[in-house]
Amino acid sequence: METVFWLVLLIGVLLTLAYRRTDLRTSTIVLGALLVVYWIFGDGGSLWNALLLVAFLLLALLNFESIRRDNVTRRLFGLYRSMLPSMSKTEQEALEAGSVWWDGELFTGMPDWRRLKSLPPPTLTAEEQAFLDGPTEELCRLLDDWQITHELADMPPHVWQFIKDHKFFAMIIPKEYGGLQFSPLANSMILAKLSSRSAVVSSTVGVPNSLGPAELLLHYGTEEQKQRWLPRLASGDEIPCFALTSPRVGSDATALVDNGVVCKGTWEGQEVVGIRLNWDKRYITLAPIATVLGLAFKLYDPEHLIGDVEEYGITAALIPTDLPGIEIGRRHFPVGAPFQNGPTRGRDVFVPLDAIIGGTKMAGLGWRMLVQQLAVGRSIVLPSNALGAASAAVYATGAYAKLRRQFNLPIGKFHGVGEAIARMAGNVYIMTAASRVTCTAITNGEKPAVPSAILKYHNTEMGRQVASDAMDVHGGKGIMLGPKNYLARGYESVPIAITVEGANILTRNLIIFGQGAIRCHPFVRAEMDAARDPDREAGLAAFDRLLFKHLGYGLSNAARSLVMAVTLARFTDVPVGGPTRRYYQHINRYSASFALIVDAAMFTLGGALKRRELLSARLGDILSYLYLASMVLKHYQDQGEPPEDLPLVEWSCRTLLYKTQEQFHGLLRNFPNRWVAAVLRFFIFPRGRTYSSPSDELGQEIVELIINPTPTRERLASGTYKAVEPGNQIGLLQEAMEIAEQVKPLERRIFDARRAGDIKADDIPSQIDEAEKKGILTPAEAEAVRAFDRRMLDITGVDDFAPDALRRQSG
Ligand SMILES: Cc1cc2nc3c(=O)[nH]c(=O)nc-3n(C[C@H](O)[C@H](O)[C@H](O)COP(=O)(O)OP(=O)(O)OC[C@H]3O[C@@H](n4cnc5c(N)ncnc54)[C@H](O)[C@@H]3O)c2cc1C
Repeated sequence: METVFWLVLLIGVLLTLAYRRTDLRTSTIVLGALLVVYWIFGDGGSLWNALLLVAFLLLALLNFESIRRDNVTRRLFGLYRSMLPSMSKTEQEALEAGSVWWDGELFTGMPDWRRLKSLPPPTLTAEEQAFLDGPTEELCRLLDDWQITHELADMPPHVWQFIKDHKFFAMIIPKEYGGLQFSPLANSMILAKLSSRSAVVSSTVGVPNSLGPAELLLHYGTEEQKQRWLPRLASGDEIPCFALTSPRVGSDATALVDNGVVCKGTWEGQEVVGIRLNWDKRYITLAPIATVLGLAFKLYDPEHLIGDVEEYGITAALIPTDLPGIEIGRRHFPVGAPFQNGPTRGRDVFVPLDAIIGGTKMAGLGWRMLVQQLAVGRSIVLPSNALGAASAAVYATGAYAKLRRQFNLPIGKFHGVGEAIARMAGNVYIMTAASRVTCTAITNGEKPAVPSAILKYHNTEMGRQVASDAMDVHGGKGIMLGPKNYLARGYESVPIAITVEGANILTRNLIIFGQGAIRCHPFVRAEMDAARDPDREAGLAAFDRLLFKHLGYGLSNAARSLVMAVTLARFTDVPVGGPTRRYYQHINRYSASFALIVDAAMFTLGGALKRRELLSARLGDILSYLYLASMVLKHYQDQGEPPEDLPLVEWSCRTLLYKTQEQFHGLLRNFPNRWVAAVLRFFIFPRGRTYSSPSDELGQEIVELIINPTPTRERLASGTYKAVEPGNQIGLLQEAMEIAEQVKPLERRIFDARRAGDIKADDIPSQIDEAEKKGILTPAEAEAVRAFDRRMLDITGVDDFAPDALRRQSG
């Protein structure tokens, strides 16, 4: 009995020390004190006492850096160096891009919530707000998406002009060069509003404000290049595009074969040293109308005209599109959103050396430039466009589900339809939270590369799910194309966002965790740097310190994961009380389990983890879900914690944390080393999988918030273009929904009269006539119900066309 007491005491002390991440010295002192207490009060035999003493002395010796370095770390150091996965220059550059933010906290297993909570809420400047409420709304008002997508396959000239006149292409260009100099948050909110109206317009506006000539010039251009190009890009006199992709090279962009050879040639009548370029690119947005082409190519200098190097590698240059040898102008036809996109080829195009962005000192640094800018850009354009389309879809679907009746009930009342509506609303809440909070972090100086990849993947995937659910709820109304269809083009164009800026399968399987593992892990990157240190002894000393901290961190994560799993995280410290407290606590729990499993995966698989894409994808999913759940909590806080929105917060967090749990399960089921998997399962799921997904009841609560005119519904779609005007079906749906509320008591009277047998007619117009005739409704009331019925039929109706109206006209 006494032995059990001492054993429990020892395990308790060990768990407490590890849980609280106590340092090695303090832990040694505490364990030494425990040993003394045991010697005094315990009754272990002398052999047992001697064993404990030896164990304690070994632990104590680890406190002496030189002893532990020479006897333990030196051997491990050699082994580690031999196991270190090779890393290409391009991979290295990708890893160095951007900063580590909340993603890094989740990797620690003990996230510091103060860091997230201290981020200010999203705020626009007065100028940005005025632009959102003014020119952005005005541009939305000008748009006729049917004309754009069906009749013209382009924006009409007055829309192009409006965009240029109001500098929509210049949101990221500083004022000193004639641009608007808007924050990433403003950029995101403007794009989301445009996207709620037209995918063609948001894609067209998104590209010049994303990775492209302006962005590259701003960060790497010489002052002369900035002065030359930026004011003309800001005014819309120059239209940019950026060409990286070519027929043989898509995702594996660094394998590009387009080339530039340094040579002498004639430029403006003079012989100069320049570059002779050959390229064949495709899928290039804005290329058909571009006046300046940002080109990625490999630079060679066989004659050593600019230096000693022969092969410089990927380089970025700005090429005016009217030079001899350039083929540009033909169009591709992107599905659902026919924005300007096309191929371009160049044959022996000669440009001077100052076409290289940043001049010759930036030769060969093109890939680094691109990944550094993508580190931020991926959080903005595509996630915002996906969000805009999704919030418009949920806003419209909520109204439609109230107006459209089957079996004498609004279809939103059927639980099956409600399930889709709740999922749409929850997904939009998560997308909004992720976009707003991450863009605010960027506006405040972060450059979060891994969260950018998370947003790119998850916002576009949730956008895909929302588009699909919206189509299901609308039935035939979503399928019949025409001016009255506000969903189908968004649905059709979903694959575009999925494919561009890193196709989603690649982003999930390779990028999110692949980059996160090394960038965000508190020790791995530093350990790798130490192992690669050419000064072996200095590297060993650094490695030793890191290794022992890393070991302590691993033990701590194991203890934290186990304790929080056993207690269902009830006692972990979080900075909030109230209804969201448990979600914070569960994020703490899963963060510890995540940190533990990451170390186990890296330790047992090493470089092979890179090739085990499905394991890497699941680890990336866990990181993503924890990141998104944290964004939801922060967004709720930023919105002033309105209690009516709690169902959405609960749905979002429950869904994300449930998926986290399931991905842990999938990971453990597929973990190659079954012994390690069994041990991990003990530390992660000692009580099994206890977390549940959202209940049906919660889903129904959300449906009521979305199919009725509520503040939650308005907040959820606050970034959508909702003006009530002819041609804006979304505004008209909202108006009809509000009228539906007003006529509800009148319809109820007709319904009751029918049940009582006082009204016999079957069809609705005749029922209204009969109700008026029999005095059940006054003439004014009857007219109100009639008007609503006509409006409802109109708004839920679809277009039809003369037989030859849909035939394409040639010429
Ligand atoms: C509408 C549109 C606009 C575009 N605009 C531009 C532009 O302005 N400028 C520009 O340079 N490019 C542009 N692109 C190109 C875009 O960036 C590429 O389409 C993208 O990089 C994917 O290349 P790919 O289409 O050749 O697909 P592929 O590379 O052939 O990939 C096919 C599939 O394989 C997957 N895959 C590939 N490698 C891996 C891997 N290692 N692990 C897991 N999965 C993998 C991908 O995820 C994808 O699902 C545009 C494309 C489209 C469709």
